[in-house]
Amino acid sequence: INSSEQAIELEEQHGAHNYHPLPAVLSKGEGVHVWDVEGKKYYDFLSAYSAVNQGHCHPKILEALNKQAATLTLTSRAFHNDVLGPFEKYATEYFGFDKLLPMNTGAEAVETAIKLARKWAYETKGVKETEAEIIVCENNFHGRTTTIISFSNDEGARRNFGPYTPGFQKIPYDDVDALEQALKENDNIAGFLVEPIQGEAGVYVPSEGYLKRAKALCEKHNVLFIADEVQTGIARTGQLLAVDHEDVKPDVLILGKAISGGVYPVSAVLANNNVMNVIKPGQHGSTFGGNPLACAVAHAALEVIKDEKLAENAERLGGLFRRLLDDYIRNSNIVELVRGKGLLNAILINDTGDSSTAWDICMALKENGLLAKPTHGNIIRFAPPLVMNEEQLKDCVDIITKTLKQFEK
Ligand code: PMP
Repeated sequence: INSSEQAIELEEQHGAHNYHPLPAVLSKGEGVHVWDVEGKKYYDFLSAYSAVNQGHCHPKILEALNKQAATLTLTSRAFHNDVLGPFEKYATEYFGFDKLLPMNTGAEAVETAIKLARKWAYETKGVKETEAEIIVCENNFHGRTTTIISFSNDEGARRNFGPYTPGFQKIPYDDVDALEQALKENDNIAGFLVEPIQGEAGVYVPSEGYLKRAKALCEKHNVLFIADEVQTGIARTGQLLAVDHEDVKPDVLILGKAISGGVYPVSAVLANNNVMNVIKPGQHGSTFGGNPLACAVAHAALEVIKDEKLAENAERLGGLFRRLLDDYIRNSNIVELVRGKGLLNAILINDTGDSSTAWDICMALKENGLLAKPTHGNIIRFAPPLVMNEEQLKDCVDIITKTLKQFEK
C-alpha cells in the first residue's frame, strides 16, 4: 500500500461497510503519535477509544508480546498454561478482588457479567429462573452483541436486529431516585450495570456522589453493582478506576481495552468469591480467553500503568487541558463547553444549524496534525495516550484552538 486512496478503495471494495472512519490510513505508531501511509505525523487524540493508554508500541509491552509469541501463544483452556495463574494473581491483587475471568473483548466481558449476575440471582437470591432483570441506563454503551443491543438507545445499532433479549430495565443515567424506585418495585433485580462516566454517549460525567449513592442502594437491596470500566478504567480518568473517585468498590468489575495497552485483545471480569464461584466448569468461556499471549501482554501493560504513574499524569494533564480549553471557550461562539475527568474529555460544539460541524472540525484537526473523532452529533471526544507530557499537551491545545478558530463565526 502506498497511498491512502488505495487502502480506502480496497476496504470499500472488499470490506463490510460497518464503520465510518475518518479518512486517515495509519501505518505506524509510537507513544502519543501515529503516522499515515504518506508519512504524515499526527497526535493520536483518541487512543483507539481509550485502549492505547500506555502509548503506541510501548517497548515493555512489545517485549512481553515478542517473548511470549516465541514461546507459547495458545493452548485453549483445555489445558492449563504457565502464564494465566501468575497474571490472575497479579491482576486480582492489583484491583482488589478474589477472582478474575479472562475474555477477549469488552462486549464479551459485559455478556459475561450479565450471565454471572443472573446465575448469582438464581442461586443466592431465590429469583425464579428466567425472571432475573438487570437495570441499565439510558444512553448506555456496552458493546454490540445481540443481547447488548437489546438495551441500547442507539437506533442504528439496534433497529432491524431484533428479536431482542428480555430481562433489562432502563432508567435515566445519573438519577438515584429512579434507581431506588426500580429497586423497590421489583424483587427480581440481579444487578445494576453502569458506566461510571458514559463514554460513547459523549463523555457524560454524572453528578458527584451518584456512584456512591447507587452502590449503597444496591447493597441495601442485595443487588450487584456492576461497573463497566472498559473505557473509563486503567488510569484514563486520573484514578486507576473511575469508581475510585468516589471510593466505590463494585461487586463486579468489567475491564477491556487498556488492560492490554491496545496490543492484543484482552478483557476481564473481576468479582469476589461469593459471586464468581457461581460459575462452574463448562458454563462459560472462550477459546482465546486467558491465552498465554494475552496474559503476558496484559501483565506487562498493567505494570506500565503503575511504573509510569499514568493515573497521576492523566489527573494532572487532564486538569491542565480543561483549564486551557476553558480559557479559549470563554470567548468562543462555536464551542459550548469542555467536560471530562483525567484525560477522558469532550467538547460540545454549539449547533449552528449544521450538524456536520463536528465532523468538519475533526477533518481540519487532521489537516493540522491531530486525530480525534465525534462520538456522535456535535460532541468531539479527546482521549490521548496517557504517556503524553506537558509540552506535548500544550502543543495539542494549540492545534485544537487554532483549528477551532477557523470555525468561529
Ligand atoms: N463497554 C464500554 C463502556 C465501551 O466503551 C465499549 C467500547 N467502546 C465496550 C463496552 C465494548 O468493547 P469492545 O468494543 O471491545 O467490545
